[in-house]
Amino acid sequence: MPENLPIDQTRPLEYQLKSYFGFDLFKQGQKAVIQRIMQQQSAVAIFPTGAGKSLCYQLPSVLLPKMTLVVSPLLSLMKDQLEFLRLKNIPAARLDSTLSPEEYHQIIEDARTNKLKIVMISVERFKNERFRNHLKQMQVGLLVVDEAHCISEWGHNFRPEYLKLPEYRKEFNIPIVLLLTATATIKVRGDMCAKFDISSEHVISTGFYRENLFLQISPVQETEKVKLLLNRIKEAPGAPTIVYVTLQKTAEEVADFLADNQFKASAYHAGMGNEDREHIQNSFMAGKLHCVVATIAFGMGIDKNNIRRVIHYNMPKSIENYSQEIGRSGRDGKPAFCEVLANRDNINVLENFVYGDTPTADSIHELLQEIKKQDGMQWHMALTTLSRRLDIKSLPLKTLLIYLDKEGIIRPKYSYFNTYFFKYNESKDQIIDRFDGERRHFVKTIFDFCDTKKVWTYLDVNSVVDHLDCKRQRVIAAIEYFNEQKWIVLQSKQATEVYDILSKSYDSIDISKRVFDVFKDKETYEIGRIASMLDLFESRTCINNRLAKYFGEQRRERCGHCSVCQDSIAEIKHTTNLKPLAAYNPNELISAFRKKAGDHYSVLNATKFLCGISSPGLFSLKVKSIPNHSMLENYPFMKVFRWLESSSTALT
Ligand code: ADP
Ligand code: MG
Repeated sequence: MPENLPIDQTRPLEYQLKSYFGFDLFKQGQKAVIQRIMQQQSAVAIFPTGAGKSLCYQLPSVLLPKMTLVVSPLLSLMKDQLEFLRLKNIPAARLDSTLSPEEYHQIIEDARTNKLKIVMISVERFKNERFRNHLKQMQVGLLVVDEAHCISEWGHNFRPEYLKLPEYRKEFNIPIVLLLTATATIKVRGDMCAKFDISSEHVISTGFYRENLFLQISPVQETEKVKLLLNRIKEAPGAPTIVYVTLQKTAEEVADFLADNQFKASAYHAGMGNEDREHIQNSFMAGKLHCVVATIAFGMGIDKNNIRRVIHYNMPKSIENYSQEIGRSGRDGKPAFCEVLANRDNINVLENFVYGDTPTADSIHELLQEIKKQDGMQWHMALTTLSRRLDIKSLPLKTLLIYLDKEGIIRPKYSYFNTYFFKYNESKDQIIDRFDGERRHFVKTIFDFCDTKKVWTYLDVNSVVDHLDCKRQRVIAAIEYFNEQKWIVLQSKQATEVYDILSKSYDSIDISKRVFDVFKDKETYEIGRIASMLDLFESRTCINNRLAKYFGEQRRERCGHCSVCQDSIAEIKHTTNLKPLAAYNPNELISAFRKKAGDHYSVLNATKFLCGISSPGLFSLKVKSIPNHSMLENYPFMKVFRWLESSSTALT
């Protein structure tokens, strides 16, 4: 804010916009949202990416007397916003785990004394009891939730921790909330409003329809797909293009195929190293690489405005994913071409992902029993270990823990890292020699309990604590100090979360049944979402309009730039003939797996194995190298399950 310009709070919002941010005009929707916040009304802003959602909280936060707390899912998003606020001289800070204790305390102090206008956090911060105590001493006037669709279990990108936000809002007496998102279906919108008590007249949505995207649905035989893709690419070889596929291996295969046909394309997926991924992303952004064949891992934070084509080589995961993925093209407003190479052949793969996410009632029960078995009323839990032991994937496990929190069984307290390891920049004697007296003894003891492997040295924190009878925090502070001084390069892993156990008198059977039903309902809903997507692609009416309607926008005129408006209605079929299951011998298919799985063998696991569904429990068995893994990936999961179950030999 320019210091020579006295800002008069009574002047119109346009004046404030100019004085604080230097902008002449509000973008569409901004003023309506800001007015509501200024009148102490909670609101929802649904604007497309790049439309200026952040300003909707930034301007009110400088005008309102109390502090604004912003919850954001991505570190990079926070960094960008902080940078912007700093340029505008607006006091703001980010509380995250990379801060030193001194920095952390300074921010808390500044927030407490109302020196900061905006504090940004990740939702996980709320799990920390110390932070919750600090928050009670602050005057928060507005809670902002960025990417707020994460709160809905009925949307994509669901983040279990977000479910607790409405409760936190109550606990900390935060009078108003502003929810920001770029995509929310009618159902998700309803869910967001219900959870935060926002009435529909305070939902400001600026339209979803994109007039420059041509949407094409092209039914194609599975065997013809690569040829069609190649032809498409040849039509405009230099046009920046994303080809979306479902599986990592498909990304590799398709990229190789294009390369064999003299067309340079790179695969991109979560199975690749960070450096490779960054390199590919940068080349694509810089226009040196024209085509990326990617799984859904590619996209978040891709800020390239001239993407001309998005081709779905496999069917997207849902309508939301589809709209987000095609929405990355044509940001410059110039025409872009979005095509789905459509058949039903990979629908099973999509459905199988859904089935793989549902925990069994037994595993939920086991978790409940485990909590009961703890000595005392605290529970130390490492998510990855627990996930493998119970064979529940990490996202559903986090969801489950939130459910138990909401049932009044557990409550998060704080978390710590269990394993610290480092590389030496200096020898340990050099480091020890820097200290005298008791501190020297302390530092020496730390190194006595270190174990050096090939590259990394591992520190056994618990043994140091036991041996010296000191606080864990002192040991951690010491090695963090060595790291700061660049004497070592420190890493930590395996976060352990500590929960307070609020009650042990619950009925495990009853709760596990109830919670399992919730997961089952979700599974049914997710399977239904895939069907709705197929329905959209087979639409007999304008696809752009149907899509807009799904996101709450009514349009009358046909768009004229989708395949339906150009008189081509898609009929999406299965194009590969599958042998009937009866033609297989179940015992032969699973014998190797059964041997390897031993006690872990169950019909459910055998089905996962044959359908190629990954699971944390199967992961440690290295199932991918067992013969017949994912042999039946093109068959419906439930069909395979029932078939195995009914072949009595497979059960014994
Ligand atoms: P979103 O979160 O909706 O994707 P951002 O809040 O990041 O979008 O804003 C996108 C860009 O628009 C930012 O660079 C921001 O500074 C700019 N911007 C926001 N409001 C205005 C405005 N009223 N006039 C001009 N530029 C604006
Ligand atoms: Mg944003």
